[in-house]
Amino acid sequence: MRTITIKPAAITHNLNQVKKLAPTSKVLAMVKANAYGHGVAAVLPALQQADGVGVATLIEALEARKLGWDKTIGLIEGAFTVNEWQQAIEHDISCVIHHAPQLTWALAHIPPINSATRVVWLKYNTGMNRLGFNEQTLIPAAKLLHHAGYQLILTTHFANADNHSHPLNAIQIQRFNDMLSTLRETINCDVKGSLCNSAGIVNFSKHHHDWVRPGIMLYGSAPVIDQSACELNLQPAMEFSAQIIALQTVNAGDTIGYGSRWLAQQDTKTALVSIGYGDGYPRIIGDDVYVSVIDTINHKSYPCAVIGRVAMDMIVIDVSNVPEGIALNSKVILWGDTPHVDEVAAHAGTISYELLCRLSLRPQRLQG
Ligand SMILES: *Cc1c(COP(=O)(O)O)cnc(C)c1O
Repeated sequence: MRTITIKPAAITHNLNQVKKLAPTSKVLAMVKANAYGHGVAAVLPALQQADGVGVATLIEALEARKLGWDKTIGLIEGAFTVNEWQQAIEHDISCVIHHAPQLTWALAHIPPINSATRVVWLKYNTGMNRLGFNEQTLIPAAKLLHHAGYQLILTTHFANADNHSHPLNAIQIQRFNDMLSTLRETINCDVKGSLCNSAGIVNFSKHHHDWVRPGIMLYGSAPVIDQSACELNLQPAMEFSAQIIALQTVNAGDTIGYGSRWLAQQDTKTALVSIGYGDGYPRIIGDDVYVSVIDTINHKSYPCAVIGRVAMDMIVIDVSNVPEGIALNSKVILWGDTPHVDEVAAHAGTISYELLCRLSLRPQRLQG
C-alpha cells in the first residue's frame, strides 16, 4: 500500500497558529492546487474557522462552492475571460482585478448589490513584477471600480517574504502602505488591505492589515528560511507512506539499482519499499535522505537511508540499523512527522510546495 493520510486536526491547529499571529485579520486560507496536494474535499472541513478560501482558477473556485463552502472564495488571478467573469458573478466568487481587460469586464457586467463579486481584490504591483497595476494606473482603476459600486481590497504579493532581511521587502511594504493610505484618503476610508502570505504573517507582524492569505503554513511547512516548522509550532498535515515489499542482504562490493550508483562498502541489509517517482517521491534526492521505518515488534521509528536511484515504483533503503522487527509489510514513512517534508524538499533541491503539489494519483488517500 502506498498511502497519503491527511490530518484535518493538524490543519485546524495550524489555522489557529495563524490566528494567534494575526489576531485582528481575516483569514483567506489558500486551497489552490488541490489544497497544496492535500485534496480540497479533505481540507475544507478543517478550515471552518477561516473567513474565506483562496484559489487560482475558476474551476477550483467552482469546486469549493460545489463542496459547500459558502463563505468568501477569492480568485487570486481573477477571471481570464469575460465569460469567466460572468461565471464568477453567478457563483458569488470574489476576484482579483490586476489588469485593464479585467477592469473592463467588471465595469461592463456589474454584479447585484449583495453579491460577493462586488468585493474586488485590486492588485498592486509593488515589486514582484508579475501581476498588477502600477503606481500610475492603480488609482484611476480604483476610482472607476469604487464609482461602479465595488468594495475594494488593495492587495499585493511579496517576492522575498521568506527572507526577512531581503531589501525588497521594505520597499514593497512601503509602496503598499502608501497606496493604501492614498486610496483611503482620496476614494473611501473603507478600502481594505491584504499583503501577507504565510511568510509575511511570520516575518512582518506589523503589516497584517485586514486579510492575511496563509497557504503553506496551514499544511505544516515552514514558510521562512530561518525557522523550522517545529519552531513555529506547525504540524504536518500529511503523512506519505509505503511499505517494505522485499528484504535482502547485499554483499560488500555489490551495487544497487539503476546506474549501479550505490556501492556497498560492507555487507548490508536492505529493504525494497513500494514507492517511487510514479507516486511523487522525488527522483532527484541525494544519498543522504532518510525515511522512517516502523518496526513491527515495538512500533518504534528508525531512520533508514535511501540508497541507489529512486525508480518509478520502488526505492531501496538500508535497514542495517533496525535491530529487530523488520518484516515484509513494515510501514515506511517518506514524509510526515519525521522526516518532515521540508527536510526531504531540501534534499531534493526544491521546496515543500512542489513535493506536495506533484503527488500522483496512485497512492491511496486516507483521512487520519
Ligand atoms: C499562493 C498564494 C498565497 C499563499 O502563499 P504561501 O506562501 O503558501 O503562504 C498568498 N497569496 C497569493 C496571491 C498566492 O498566490
